[in-house]
Amino acid sequence: MAATSSAGAGVFRPAERIANLPPYLFAEADRQIAAKRAAGFDVVSLGIGDPDLPTPRWILDELHRTAEVPENHRYPDYYGLAELRRAIASWYEGRFGVALHPDREVVPLIGSKEGIAHIPFAFINPGDVALVPDPSYPVYAIGTMLAGGEPYMMPIVPSNGFLPDLDSIPAPILARAKLLWINYPNNPTSAIAPEGFFERVVEFAARHGLLVCHDNAYSDVTYDGYRPKSFLQVPGAKEVGVEFHSLSKSYNMTGWRIGMMVGNASVVSAVGRVKTNIDSGIFQAVQYAGIAALTGDQEWMAERNAIYQRRRDLVISTLREIGIEAPVPKASLYIWAPVPSGQTSLSFSLKLLDELAVWVTPGVGFGPSGEGFFRISLTTPDSRLEEAMRRLRTGKL
Ligand code: PLP
Repeated sequence: MAATSSAGAGVFRPAERIANLPPYLFAEADRQIAAKRAAGFDVVSLGIGDPDLPTPRWILDELHRTAEVPENHRYPDYYGLAELRRAIASWYEGRFGVALHPDREVVPLIGSKEGIAHIPFAFINPGDVALVPDPSYPVYAIGTMLAGGEPYMMPIVPSNGFLPDLDSIPAPILARAKLLWINYPNNPTSAIAPEGFFERVVEFAARHGLLVCHDNAYSDVTYDGYRPKSFLQVPGAKEVGVEFHSLSKSYNMTGWRIGMMVGNASVVSAVGRVKTNIDSGIFQAVQYAGIAALTGDQEWMAERNAIYQRRRDLVISTLREIGIEAPVPKASLYIWAPVPSGQTSLSFSLKLLDELAVWVTPGVGFGPSGEGFFRISLTTPDSRLEEAMRRLRTGKL
């Protein structure tokens, strides 16, 4: 039978692994934002977590320098430059006091999203379960589904301090579970891991044979002097897990696509095997720029974080003025706030778009337990953020 026959001439029916993915909840929102803009409104979007501040100069200089070298225009090494793996290992040692073997315990990624999406292909068989926080970065669940597995959603809500209640996971689910995803500082809730939480996770994972995937993308976007830890600082963590990290948010490098997975050597090896069959590594000049980021001055981050902190304080105080009490985050790029009563997260977001031409992300887009919340990202230039806050405060466009 022709591939096109069931869907009509010229239209190919996608494979079930795509067709069965949940609908893209923001599609309708995207349409409405576009319509609002087309109608001539100056929409301020506080939706996406994508640093507006530039990548530091010396990182750009290193890209320019190394982009001139013809050798760097060829296929890069599958496992990344040895110098990059060494730079990642020394950065982990310096930042977290975690020792890593650069050849066996480090794999560079084309942005951490790439590794997050691919690790299920290394460990999930059809029917296997991945334990996924709800709400969360959508790729944990989607990557699991693309590999034929089932995400089991663990609510992270105010009543449990935005931590998964591991003891409430039903035994039959645990019996099928292979991966356990955690992410602190957290997107979208901006919660941080309390003392002792990673230790509990290591113990639980060891008891149930789970592979822990900790996503530490926001460890260096922090406020009030808070210093998040690495999951790998906990004794025994390397036996049960890996950590995903990224240069995206730490170094204002989202567009560059460079990140890493580090930790358990057998997991690094398996993910490396998937990757050698799918991708051909990171542009070498970007790898050299990454080395410059990881080995260069780190003090500049304090000034960058001070900018985000001022924005955080502006958003928190504005929300307070209009009667919305949101937790004050110690890290991450987000304010996670409750929607006013009588609204759903989507109806509230659409109302702000309609009345004030301000877009905030409805919490339900991050999972069912995100209902009742909305997320504001702090990555909008000061003047635009101030304009959005003025509209919220005055209730006027
Ligand atoms: N993990 C979390 C929690 C994120 O919020 C993001 C991006 O927003 C990523 C991972 C992916 O980052 P990247 O692929 O740019 O490294």
